[in-house]
Amino acid sequence: MAAFNEEKVLSVHHWTDRLFTFTTTRSPSLRFSNGHFTMIGLRVNDKPLLRAYSIVSPNYEETLEFLSIKVPDGPLTSRLQHIQPGDRVIVGHKPTGTLLIDYLLPGKRLYMFSTGTGLAPFMSVIRDPETYEKFEEVILVHGCRQVDELAYREYITQELPRHEILGETVSKQLKYYPTVTREAFRTQGRIPELIESGHMAKDLELPQLNPQMDRVMLCGSPQMLKSIKEVLEKRGFNEGNTTTPGDFVVERAFVDQ
Ligand SMILES: Cc1cc2nc3c(=O)[nH]c(=O)nc-3n(C[C@H](O)[C@H](O)[C@H](O)COP(=O)(O)OP(=O)(O)OC[C@H]3O[C@@H](n4cnc5c(N)ncnc54)[C@H](O)[C@@H]3O)c2cc1C
Repeated sequence: MAAFNEEKVLSVHHWTDRLFTFTTTRSPSLRFSNGHFTMIGLRVNDKPLLRAYSIVSPNYEETLEFLSIKVPDGPLTSRLQHIQPGDRVIVGHKPTGTLLIDYLLPGKRLYMFSTGTGLAPFMSVIRDPETYEKFEEVILVHGCRQVDELAYREYITQELPRHEILGETVSKQLKYYPTVTREAFRTQGRIPELIESGHMAKDLELPQLNPQMDRVMLCGSPQMLKSIKEVLEKRGFNEGNTTTPGDFVVERAFVDQ
């Protein structure tokens, strides 16, 4: 059996000149858990050119959605950024990853810390009803350089609370905390510093992060992951993985070469 399906692009939305979103058809054979990533790409000179992508859409949707960076000279995204509805993309059918609520020990609150496209896997986790069954409070933190890079902000704050099935639960249990580093915004600063200074806890009206109550998922730049891991480990959080659940789990949003 081929390792990939060909899917048709259904829509494309450009957030900025560095960031875009697209949706595709979904082969009924593709199964995944919310938080997973898979390999996707394009056929270039008749060969598949593939990269890891987190799946934005929850696993019960009939279509797939991805959030993508545009790297000007990036082998894949210099091409992918020009896709149009009707074009074909390749989607690997072996999704995997560590950002699953199953890989966390039981807790009261779930924090998801993301930077840039690291938001992608959490878009599916926040639309998973099980997330709200397992955790009383769910906090989504997204850090970007500029306000217009806060992808899905309007969806999270306006549309999701009115969602036919999830709306009521989301309104009660989900807190969204966007922060920006290079522009004026109501919350400014890098996530590790907002945690350490106590600003985030104060703004959210929640206690300081602690491993007795809180569970954490991280997805962002290698630098962001390193800094937040240090903050968490200093507070006694233990990292989990696909075989041993822990207090926090980590996935890279990209690999720096
Ligand atoms: C587990 C995992 C999940 C991923 N999920 C996504 C996703 O949902 N969306 C997405 O856009 N990318 C994601 N990536 C990154 C993706 O695999 C590619 O690196 C990206 O699409 C660029 O491909 P490229 O061939 O154009 O350039 P590459 O040669 O792959 O990358 C060139 C350089 O661009 C920078 N870069 C790459 N990706 C990003 C990014 N997302 N944000 C900021 N800088 C970046 C890095 O410095 C990298 O060295 C993920 C990577 C991993 C490991």
